[in-house]
Amino acid sequence: TNLSAAVEIQGLQMRYSNGHQALAGVDLRVDSGQLVALVGANGAGKSTLLRCLIRLQEPTAGQARIGGAEVTGVGGRALRRIRRDVGFVFQRFNLVDRLSAFRNVVNGAVAREGTRCVVPALVPSEVRLEAMECLARVGLADLADRRVDRLSGGQQQRVAIARSLMQRPKLILADEPVASLDPVAGQGVMELLRDVATERGITVIAALHQVEFALEHTERIIGLKAGRIVLDQAASLTSAGDLAEFYGAGLE
Ligand code: ATP
Repeated sequence: TNLSAAVEIQGLQMRYSNGHQALAGVDLRVDSGQLVALVGANGAGKSTLLRCLIRLQEPTAGQARIGGAEVTGVGGRALRRIRRDVGFVFQRFNLVDRLSAFRNVVNGAVAREGTRCVVPALVPSEVRLEAMECLARVGLADLADRRVDRLSGGQQQRVAIARSLMQRPKLILADEPVASLDPVAGQGVMELLRDVATERGITVIAALHQVEFALEHTERIIGLKAGRIVLDQAASLTSAGDLAEFYGAGLE
């Protein structure tokens, strides 16, 4: 096993309780610092793969490692340690609506330290400073104090990215990070995700519906169909036409 692999997956299967086989044996290796797009029609298994990788869902078979550490079959403590290094950026942001952008970003540091709660008045100054730096990096320094439910979708997704940066992640898993955004905001968020990942050497695996985004902003395209990888190639060698089959049935 090469320890530089950010993610290694072997024979991963997921069968839901209704008998549906959402992952039918996935093998995948992603090197550190790679930007990978997971593409596939609705129901192909993209979300299930991301969720099983970090055991938000329990896979029914197979193994996964993140940064060389065993994810499958380990206890809660080891799992929490692994998750601390993994940032999640989801379609619906998963932010705390009532809290400011700043507070949401501070929560990323809480995840990092494994702390249960941080009293607002007692956020250490170095954490405040880092949170402001992360907000500035995503272009939101001016809106730090605004409640996130008063921000636009694109701004909220930037807060989610800033929060994941606060974790100082080695890996970011993004599940349709731009699906709920208009094309211009989506473009901006994809560029941001790509740029921060490149700057910081973060590995990114992003489930993406929009082929154009996958081709333009990632370096490797993995196509899923009925829970299997049926395409895996460099984005630079892939055309939109190559990906047509992944969108035929499932276009929203
Ligand atoms: P989408 O873009 O629609 O989210 P996806 O590629 O991410 O698609 P998944 O969400 O991983 O697909 O779903 C894969 C398959 O598993 C689908 O057929 C879905 O209906 C099914 N599935 C998902 N969650 C469950 C569940 N809790 N119980 C039963 N089947 C499920």
